[in-house]
Amino acid sequence: MKFKLLAAAFGIAIAAPLHADVLVDNVEGITIGEDGKVQRFTALVIDDEGKVAQILTSRDKKPQTDFREDGKGAVMIPGLIDAHAHVMGIGIGALTLDLSDTNSLQEALDKIRTFAAENPDRPWILGRGWNQEKWNLGRFPTAAELDSAVADRPVYLARVDGHAGWVNSVAMQAASVDASSKAPQGGRIERLSDGKTPSGVLIDNAMDLMQNAVPAPRPKERDLAFAEAQKVLHRYGITAVADMGTSIEDWQAFRRAGDRGALTLRVMAYAAGADQMELIAGSGPSPWLYDDKLRMNGIKIYLDGALGSRGAWLKQPYADDPGNTGLPLTGPAKLRNILVRAVQGNFQPAIHAIGTAANEDALNAIAEIAESFPGDRRWRIEHAQIVDPVDLPKFGQNGIIASMQPVHQTSDRLMAEARLGPDRLEGAYAWNTILKLGGRLAFGSDAPVESPDPFAGIAAATTRMDAEGQPFGGWHPQERVNREQALASFTSEAAYAGFAEGRFGRLLPGERADFVLIDRDPLIASPGELRATKVLETWVGGRKVYDAD
Ligand SMILES: [Zn+2]
Repeated sequence: MKFKLLAAAFGIAIAAPLHADVLVDNVEGITIGEDGKVQRFTALVIDDEGKVAQILTSRDKKPQTDFREDGKGAVMIPGLIDAHAHVMGIGIGALTLDLSDTNSLQEALDKIRTFAAENPDRPWILGRGWNQEKWNLGRFPTAAELDSAVADRPVYLARVDGHAGWVNSVAMQAASVDASSKAPQGGRIERLSDGKTPSGVLIDNAMDLMQNAVPAPRPKERDLAFAEAQKVLHRYGITAVADMGTSIEDWQAFRRAGDRGALTLRVMAYAAGADQMELIAGSGPSPWLYDDKLRMNGIKIYLDGALGSRGAWLKQPYADDPGNTGLPLTGPAKLRNILVRAVQGNFQPAIHAIGTAANEDALNAIAEIAESFPGDRRWRIEHAQIVDPVDLPKFGQNGIIASMQPVHQTSDRLMAEARLGPDRLEGAYAWNTILKLGGRLAFGSDAPVESPDPFAGIAAATTRMDAEGQPFGGWHPQERVNREQALASFTSEAAYAGFAEGRFGRLLPGERADFVLIDRDPLIASPGELRATKVLETWVGGRKVYDAD
């Protein structure tokens, strides 16, 4: 009450003060309830710790509170949780120059020049997204052309597909790329008409020459990137993420934000391998820090690569590359070794497995180790994209969480058909089957690989159709999940997948008041409407962190 008087006396408008309770009224509230079913409400009371004190229906009497917020009839859902994203990647991506909207070389050069002028402190100008085809150039751009825009600092710009890099002369000097340089295997250095002088474009593995010269981001840049990532995610209604592959430098940036009171996103961190795990957390997971905003949960282990580059590890060869089955990035003995080391310290393992052989090995390794290390381990398999149908029941047997990204299915379906052929798609992105067989589903985006937009994720999860409505009726539509499940997988199930249930993920008394106000009901909207959902406000711990106005 003291606060209310103060605020009144000084005419201070405080949207979400601490040490006061707030009634958010006049909303169409939706949450997953205790019973796992959808529960609806019309108002919510936030206590002075930023937790949900009460949810009310129209029949309930409104309590007396210090502040009242009018929800103006907006739909309120729990803050969305991205169960698989790369937080620093999102932030760094948002800070680098994006050339994907340029239609000519001249337009690109102008944009590069402006960006460099606006960012005088950046020692390197980094960017991506150029495409000489779109510019109708008929050739690659050159270092000399790039020098005409920026000559005082190195510039390194990745092509739209990530398979070529365009650099200026200073960058080539910094990386010692000259007429005598030889391209590494699997790479090519483009040369001028003399056949010797590098022209300024490096292809595939030759890009490594440059990547080794680009300095790692400094703490200040990481802080900026993290701040940017929080902004991007809140704009999409995301209030928490599982960060898949946290380095010690990332962790320190999260901690710095927490110490400064600038941590607005909840981060469940999974260390990038065993060494980073021990560096970050020592002998066991960290406690929940900063009012449930940060915890080091476990370890991310890469078992195989991706399907697109044929790095996914398959039981049978690729349909479009006979003889190639891909490769394990972590061999069976090593995987078991790391898993034992992790669970001995109560770290939660999150195993990246894309191909059928990788998923089989991950599932078998879990079954073996779960016998000696029983208890609530919440084993996670990240992606679980292409699973041999005979292995699908294993998800249920050990309560394994399939952490999957619905938008990968719509983005990858044609590629998956090419890589696997039509007869091996039964266990591909098999959300509904995994669920029916007793596995648990947490949904995410894999941003920045895909957009972090959770509404696109819910639309893909419930339709198996892309933004253009393709293919009509859905790709292997029996693997769709219903709206309620999709919402749960982006909220309460994603919280459970990170040992955060009871802390956040649902709008129930005692949980953190993390919520989003949106302009339509995701349980009713058509797929097209769902994709166009507008996030009006995002709140974390009872405080507004994003407002569309
Ligand atoms: Zn990922």
